[in-house]
Amino acid sequence: MSALASNRKTDIGPPHYEQFLPPIIKKNYGKWKYHENPRPGVLVHVAESGDKLYTVRAATPRLASTKTIRLFADLADEFCGGHLRYTSRNNVEFLLTDETKIDALIEKLAAAGYPVGGTGASITNIVHTQGWIHCHSAASDASGVVKAVMDELYPHFVNMDLPAKVRIAFACCLNMCGAVHCSDIAILAVHRRAPKIDHQAMARVCEIPTTVSSCPTGAIRPATVDGHQSVEVIEEQCMFCANCYTVCPAMTLNDAEYDGISIWVGGKVSQARSEPKFSKLAIPYIPNNPPRWPEVVEAIKNIVEVYAANARKYERMGEWIDRIGWPRFFEVADIEFTKYHIDDFTHAGETFRRSVHFPRIG
Ligand code: SF4
Ligand code: SF4
Repeated sequence: MSALASNRKTDIGPPHYEQFLPPIIKKNYGKWKYHENPRPGVLVHVAESGDKLYTVRAATPRLASTKTIRLFADLADEFCGGHLRYTSRNNVEFLLTDETKIDALIEKLAAAGYPVGGTGASITNIVHTQGWIHCHSAASDASGVVKAVMDELYPHFVNMDLPAKVRIAFACCLNMCGAVHCSDIAILAVHRRAPKIDHQAMARVCEIPTTVSSCPTGAIRPATVDGHQSVEVIEEQCMFCANCYTVCPAMTLNDAEYDGISIWVGGKVSQARSEPKFSKLAIPYIPNNPPRWPEVVEAIKNIVEVYAANARKYERMGEWIDRIGWPRFFEVADIEFTKYHIDDFTHAGETFRRSVHFPRIG
């Protein structure tokens, strides 16, 4: 590479993460012996050198204001030499080298309204997508539903009182920016009817070829309607993904009456004990009921309670369901099995390769 190219400054891609590592992590990189979870929300990692790194994990509101970010930054300056990190489920983690500062940090977080927890056999913060606050495709709100659910599940965030960790995720449409396909409990907002086409506006605000080619299932084709150049949708082929609405505002998918929420269970990313699992459909549809979505909250609470009462220690949600069988799960959770469950249980999900494990040969 020429000197010119190697010295080039560019804004493409993030800077190398190494420059942001706290000194203790840089020093012991790749040389950690073990970690423990002495109390809810606190982890200690011990290095081969004997160095100890303490982590304090706090819930965040996910959509963080500048005020919140400034507060976290000030706490990181005061307690952690300016270092903190975010987990993939939007917990904020403060990384300390001085054990004696942990209580003071937790007190300050609590006083500001940020509970500490979410480690070990607990429910950690819920990762979610943009919802009504930003995304045009959202079939439900994201932060509103998650707030309502977590207000109810809060005791399981601050206590490690479940058989194993429970990861909950929320996505506000089936494009699933929120990785709901592999969480113990997944809350997935769904559209349930094909886009409504405004044929008069079509030629004015949309490009017909772009609109036709935006559909992943090939459900859109050009059509002339009432003398207007427009499109038609083959409804049986539509999977309600809103891709067409992204490129063509004349194809509205949002619908106050038909949009709602589905619940999926039993997924996990972890390779521990059993291979990773996809979440499977448990409840196909619950109507949107803002601002507190009581039916969704009740459904999630019920699944968590049934799991807590019946699973063995260390058993994740999907492992428990696999042991007792799906028919029994529907029975103990008092969830109706409907025709909408059938595809999900018989098609490709089980045949995808999900694990880095290889069977022993010979
Ligand atoms: S999940 Fe769908 S609606 Fe939600 S942010 Fe992603 S694309 Fe938008
Ligand atoms: S919502 Fe998705 S599947 Fe349906 S017509 Fe639009 S792009 Fe195609």
